[in-house]
Amino acid sequence: MTDAVEYPDLVVVGAGLFGLTVAQQAVEHLGARVEIIDVRDHIGGNAYSYMDEETGAEIHKYGAHLFHTSNKRVWDYVNRFTSFTDYVHRVYATHDGEVYPLPINLGTINQFFHASYTPAEAKALVERQAGELAGTDPQNLNDKGISLIGRPLYEAFIKNYTGKQWQTDPKDLPAGIIKRLPVRFNYDNRYFRDTWEGLPTDGYTAWMERMIDDPRIHVTLKTDFFDESQPYNKAALAAAGVPVVYTGPVDRYFDYSLGELKWRTVDFKEVRYDEGDHFGCPVMNFSDADVPYTRAIEFKNFNPERRASQNPDRTVVWEEYSRFAERGDEPYYPINTEADRELYAKYEELAKAEPLTVFGGRLGTYKYYDMHQVIDTALTAYEEQVEPLLKK
Ligand code: FAD
Repeated sequence: MTDAVEYPDLVVVGAGLFGLTVAQQAVEHLGARVEIIDVRDHIGGNAYSYMDEETGAEIHKYGAHLFHTSNKRVWDYVNRFTSFTDYVHRVYATHDGEVYPLPINLGTINQFFHASYTPAEAKALVERQAGELAGTDPQNLNDKGISLIGRPLYEAFIKNYTGKQWQTDPKDLPAGIIKRLPVRFNYDNRYFRDTWEGLPTDGYTAWMERMIDDPRIHVTLKTDFFDESQPYNKAALAAAGVPVVYTGPVDRYFDYSLGELKWRTVDFKEVRYDEGDHFGCPVMNFSDADVPYTRAIEFKNFNPERRASQNPDRTVVWEEYSRFAERGDEPYYPINTEADRELYAKYEELAKAEPLTVFGGRLGTYKYYDMHQVIDTALTAYEEQVEPLLKK
């Protein structure tokens, strides 16, 4: 069957932001003909979203996605395909029956200690409490947390949340998972500190559709690169000498021959309420152990500018349950232990030796990237690796 295929100039495996950016660039710079394949039934990778008919909420199917960047090249690039709302991300946490602002700031501290500390007084207090373990070298995440912000704040806001994220008691987690815990000694609870942030005005999927709106780009969905019954498979493309940009899992590309890289995943439980607004904010963390999920996302509240088209009487919330991924689960966050890093370094050597394949994106390079970072790495990979390959 495959010999009847007229192959394009480039095949991109994965219609996430890395793959879409590379495809767009190949058409813009070289007028290349690009085939994008994805095993899922939609484009956009993990940034994909869809409209929920009942509530009018835009649901981010793979977890809440907030765009933010201080990278001018990326900001200029994305603005070619979408405008952004003036959404500013803020997170709240429920602890012991009270709601606090995060990241921990002077408002959190004063509410928690029922005080009216000045910035200097709060700083002195946190330093004194963090001094509990002074002179020791924390060997686990629990001790590290206490040594960074003191026991009271650590136990209220970090300990159980982290335990739920990792499904592991923080006493049994390596100290290296956290380097610092941000504490702000003013009332600024803006979550990101980037120059630009916002949500795509017409939604994530409309943004990404515009990136590839060109007759020279063709997309084939529900198609697995490793399925030899379809023409754009690994073996057939290699035999035909077609350049490939691969954004799937790097260990899968090499048939897990050196072992499997480890990931964490998230399960989402959807809950619907007979009210227009359940939390009054888009993201509510649950800091205590008695609530089994880490946080809840109320999607309507990401887009208050769309209130007129949202259902005033119903809302939809997704509760997030975090756990270690098994093969077949969605790989979300690289676990990145020492052993994982060593294993990835070996796969990276194999990847470099592949003459016609460029590896990219979070799965292809086993790295957690925010969207702006993945777009930045894709623009660079296009310039440095893909264009030279296409010009050969
Ligand atoms: P992906 O989006 O994962 O795309 C890879 C694509 O490859 C997928 O569509 C997959 O189906 C496809 N694929 C894999 N294997 C094959 C195969 N064998 N054949 C065919 N297709 C295949 N970033 C932010 O900036 N802000 C946020 O708030 C944010 N929140 C996040 C929340 C969660 C829970 C997660 C997991 C990530 C979040 N991110 C966020 C990061 C963001 O999702 C990534 O930066 C971005 O999606 C990475 O794009 P990518 O193209 O590298 O990978």
